[in-house]
Parts: sequence; C-alpha cells; structure tokens
Amino acid sequence: MGKNKSKSKLSIILLILIIAGSFFVYTSEIFERNKPTIELNNNGYWNLKKALNISITDESGVKLHKVTLVSANGKEILSYEQYIKPQQLLNIEVKPPRSIFSIKEKVIRLIVEVHDVSSWNFMKGNKTIKEFKFIIDKKRPQSSILSNSYKITRGGSALVIFKIQDENLEDIYIELNNKKKFKAQTFYGEGYYIALLAWPLKNKTFKATIVAKDYAGNISKTHIPLYIKQKKYKVSKIKISDNFLKGKIADLAEEFEETQGLTDSVEQFKMINENVRAKNEKLIHDLSSILPDTIVKGFNIKKMYPLKNGKVVASFGDHRKYLYKGREISESYHLGLDLASNAMASIKPQNFAKVVYSDYNGLYGNMPMLYHGLGLYTIYGHCSSTNVNVDDMVEAKMDIAKTGKSGYAMGDHLHFGVLVQGIEVRPEEWMDREWIKLNISDIIEDAKEIINKS
Ligand SMILES: [Zn+2]
Repeated sequence: MGKNKSKSKLSIILLILIIAGSFFVYTSEIFERNKPTIELNNNGYWNLKKALNISITDESGVKLHKVTLVSANGKEILSYEQYIKPQQLLNIEVKPPRSIFSIKEKVIRLIVEVHDVSSWNFMKGNKTIKEFKFIIDKKRPQSSILSNSYKITRGGSALVIFKIQDENLEDIYIELNNKKKFKAQTFYGEGYYIALLAWPLKNKTFKATIVAKDYAGNISKTHIPLYIKQKKYKVSKIKISDNFLKGKIADLAEEFEETQGLTDSVEQFKMINENVRAKNEKLIHDLSSILPDTIVKGFNIKKMYPLKNGKVVASFGDHRKYLYKGREISESYHLGLDLASNAMASIKPQNFAKVVYSDYNGLYGNMPMLYHGLGLYTIYGHCSSTNVNVDDMVEAKMDIAKTGKSGYAMGDHLHFGVLVQGIEVRPEEWMDREWIKLNISDIIEDAKEIINKS
C-alpha cells in the first residue's frame, strides 16, 4: 500500500513536470513556433538591373537568409547572411545577378530561404522557403515619333503622333518641363498613339518628352522636336471704382459662400477674384482633364466660330492687375476670348460635341462645356440661358445658348474658352482654318500615310 502510494505521488509530480515543461516550451519565446514571413516588393517583372527589396519578419529573430537565383545557367546566390544578433525585422536589398547578359530565358525563379533562432523543432528552429517567379524584360520600350506640329506658341496647342513598342508596356504619357502630364490615346491601330499638347500660358519655357514605361521598370524618353515660339501677353491695369464695388461686387458677394460675413468691399472683391475664381477654374480644369480611353480613328475639327459677327472685346492671356485708390489689390489671368455681338445672341459651336457641363459656375455664370474628342474642350461663359443638358450630343451649328452677362461680366458677351487636357489654350488658333490644317489635320494625314505604308 505504502509503496503504491509513493509511486502514484511520483507519477503525479512527473505528470505536473511534463505539463509544466510542455507549457514552458509552448509559451516560451525560445520555442516560438511562428515561421518567418517573406515579402517581396515586386509586380512579377524584373529587368535584372534594379535591385529587389525583400522584407522579412520573425518573432524570435532571423538567424540566416539566403536568396538564390535559378536560371538555365544554374544557381547563383544573390544574397546570403548569417546574423550574430537575431533580427526581427529585415530589409534586404538584392542586387541583380552578375550573369545578367547570359540570362536568356523569359522566366526565372528566385528562392528565398529564412531560418529563425527559435529552439522549436528539436533546436532547428522555424524556416520559410518562398519561391518567386519573374518575367524577365531587359528591353526599353521602343519609341519613335511619326509626325508632330512644326511649332508651339506660348499659350497654344500642338499635336504629336508616335509609336511605342514593348511587350510589357505599363504606361505612356507626355511630360512637360513643369511636370504637367498629358495622356495619350491609341491612334488608328495598336502601338500608335496620339495626343494634343498645350503650352501653359504662365510657363516661360516649353519642353515636351514622351515617356514610356514597362512593368519591369524600363523607361524610354523621347523629346518632341517642336519649334518654340514665344509670345508676349498684355499686362493691363484696371482701376476698381467704388461704383463697381457697390454694384456688381456687392451683388456677387451675396451669392457666394466665400463672401458671407465679409463687409469690406475690397475684401469681397479679393475673395471673389481669387478664391471664388480658383474654385470655378478648378471645376473647369477637373472636367476638361478627362481623357476617355477610346481609339482615335481620326479627328475632324472645323474652325471654331461660336458667335456670328462676334467682335473681340478681350483677348486670351491678358494679365490683369487691379488697382484701388492707386494700390494694387489683386490680379488675374484672362483665360479665354471675349466676343460680343448683340445682346442674347445665339451661340453656335461649329463642331460636333458632347455636353459635359451645363450649369452655373460662379464667375463664369451659366456655362455649357463641350467635349470635342482628343482631350479638347470648349466653354461658353456668361450665358443668359442655355439649351443643352449634360450628355447631350451637339450637332455642328446647333444653338446651344444665348449670350448674356451672368457671373462676373459687365456687358453682354461670350467668354469663349478652349482647353486641352485641363490647360487653357489660345482660342485664336482653333478659330483659324489655316492653323488647324497645318497643325492638326495635316499631322494626322502624315501619320496615317506612314502607318499605311508600314
Ligand atoms: Zn472673358
């Protein structure tokens, strides 16, 4: 009886020890059982030139990592390290292989092996082996220009048609020296692209570059050889009278959110001319920045002539400085052409278009906005009434609105604006048949001829 009692006591103690031991093993950090994680910051393409970034995490710490490249040439270790101090978070930069030129296959494998310092698994620790496959693309996109407008004038437009070849093309755009990006549309057939460009009025210089990128990170840049023509724009000083402040400005101040609570007339004027104007222009810029992802077969645009017998009463690009009692209080740029004929005259665009906006837009008053294709938009400001709605298709010569003085306008007139992908351009060019032929139609014909021959 006595012997049996002590025996069972012993086995209870043993059992407790085993339970406590396993509990220790299970909960102790030394016996941590979580495998290291491996993340690779890559989209599945590699040009074998850029370094790869791998991030590794582990609870107990990484003991060693090894990165092996497997190609037809065999195995090549790209990165290997044993850590004296266990690392819980690692960022490894894997340099491209030395054998870059001898790698001929299109797909290669990368094996990443990581061990941690845990004593789990009979002291061997946890390990993770992860395999990554890469599509190898060492070639830059091939880019060539088919045709482009001969010149661009400050504040004006130009056209470019080009060809891009790449198996893994990711992005194409045209970048200006001021960082503005223009998107391109597919032209005619696959691999050909077309884009209207604009030289923003406020930029002193102009340089345009076609940028093509592929998924492997290869980039090609092609300069567009446009002849650069400077143009001086008028700077005018406009005296602000008390009559004007108490009349038009006081009226406008009542309707805008921004001017509520402002009692000082000069403050009201500044707020309207700067903040309200910026908001109204943002709406115009946002809407006209949209470039549909359509295939362009051609672009048949006729000379714009929105107001019959319209006399130019203010030009595009005027830099206006406003003076009150001899002091300059504000400034603005006039980003359209003001045309006037008789009051409430019919506005008839001469081109087929889609209505993208037809509503009140602050300083611009009642303002229809049309899309003509190729990123080209037109706006018609200060209308007394409009006859179109969003999504309407406008036929050439259709009466879309009547001139007026809604918004920030003194007399009855039309503020006619032309925009290319969100940038205001000189309407004068688009109202000139010869300019359109030389800079748009002929460029398209030249490109088509080249494509048809190839
Ligand atoms: Zn105007």
